Amino acid sequence: MTDPKPIITIENVNKYFGQLKALNNVSLSVRPGEKVVIIGPSGSGKSTLLRTINRLEEIDSGRIIVDGFDIMDKQNDINRIRMEVGMVFQNFNLFPHKTVLQNLTLAPTKLKKIPLAEAEENGRRLLRKVGIEEKANVYPAQLSGGQQQRVAIARALAMNPKIMLFDEPTSALDPEMIGEVLDVMVHLAREGMTMVVVTHEMGFAREVADLVVFMDQGEILEVGTPEHFFQECQHSRAKKFLSQIL
Ligand code: ADP
Ligand code: MG
Repeated sequence: MTDPKPIITIENVNKYFGQLKALNNVSLSVRPGEKVVIIGPSGSGKSTLLRTINRLEEIDSGRIIVDGFDIMDKQNDINRIRMEVGMVFQNFNLFPHKTVLQNLTLAPTKLKKIPLAEAEENGRRLLRKVGIEEKANVYPAQLSGGQQQRVAIARALAMNPKIMLFDEPTSALDPEMIGEVLDVMVHLAREGMTMVVVTHEMGFAREVADLVVFMDQGEILEVGTPEHFFQECQHSRAKKFLSQIL
């Protein structure tokens, strides 16, 4: 990586849900263009960590800087910061009563005041990019899960984000549809997008990750390259987890 300055800095972050400590002194930096894959057992805090990056979850202490802005600082406009950070969820979360193309044009026209014709042109370009241009005028329910997730990725890209967050984007998909979504993500990675991806797809991690982060019980227990992880990972909990999913 040529740019040494992180685009995401997470410092000593703690987050409670009532008594439960969901994030325990978590620190992580991501540089522009880096791909970070977060793995770990269910309930280990992966989604919570991802959601703190665009303040879908508030933190109790610590600091999160995104593209130079302290996201907890009330002086900063969180909606502007959110525009820089696209998010893709496990369950697609498309607007069911809008067509595919309308799903892509809604936020750019409403939040960025981009003229509809321009937003539509950009939307069609993105649908082409994710291989689904012919579905522009159908409703989400008429699509397969893999197609819906590709639309969700295109919708996030329509805001022209600097960072993309993915929370188990293939976990809700039938096995035969996982590949088409991963292909889109690999393509995006190759184009240089900064990506933080929670996934159990270790093939994807091996292929694109600069860093793999292992979480357990709200803590980051190990950070390393994919090679390190799959060959010499030290932590017994990480080893056990990998042996269960590989
Ligand atoms: P993961 O994504 O690794 O499965 P999560 O970040 O979703 O884990 O959850 C971490 C812990 O926080 C879990 O114990 C979960 O039950 C708890 N948790 C997550 N969201 C909430 C919430 N909104 N309210 C209460 N507890 C929550
Ligand atoms: Mg989760």
